[in-house]
Amino acid sequence: MPLTLTQFPIRVTRDHRVSFHDGFLDPRPHDLVHEAVDIAAAEGTDVCSSVAGIVVRSWLTGRGRVPGVGWSDRGGNVVLIFDHAGYAHYYAHMLRPPRLSPGQRVGAGEFLGQVSNSGSIARGSAKHLHYQVWTVGAGREAELATGVFDRRFGRAVNPYSELARLAGGLGAHIGANGSVVFTTAAEDEAAAARRARRHSRTRHA
Ligand SMILES: [Zn+2]
Repeated sequence: MPLTLTQFPIRVTRDHRVSFHDGFLDPRPHDLVHEAVDIAAAEGTDVCSSVAGIVVRSWLTGRGRVPGVGWSDRGGNVVLIFDHAGYAHYYAHMLRPPRLSPGQRVGAGEFLGQVSNSGSIARGSAKHLHYQVWTVGAGREAELATGVFDRRFGRAVNPYSELARLAGGLGAHIGANGSVVFTTAAEDEAAAARRARRHSRTRHA
């Protein structure tokens, strides 16, 4: 099943800018690539679940078995949610530990936490949500039933086009280079005022 997201994972209030680009496979230090999309937003902006799903109990990473919700040295305050379509959705660098329990059901759009830059990977960088999606992989029914994932997930999937589709529906500006920006209400008002002034100059010329 192709990846389909139900909700944009940031609650956009238009008080602050929210922006992202197709950062999937952006190069990172030490010959790594970034298999995720970073969504820049002000600290404290609400992060919500992109899909309905269940909080992972534990999963296997390159650094061993870790819980699906809580503190990760690299990701900071994180939560990992698996959906009913065979994908796992990872939200990292949040402000506080999510008040969610392993195995808990979450609805699409449900509050998960708030944007920040917690964790060693994001420390000192601009505040953003690191949003990453993996396919769980075939033959994983027993793990999906328990939420305990004993083997690594399958490949990472680029969520950019789904994020851009949802953002466009919420009124974001999508540039020719694929950068997506939610301007603030104040910026929109200022732009409208500039257009009105230009228009009145043209009329009276
Ligand atoms: Zn990232």
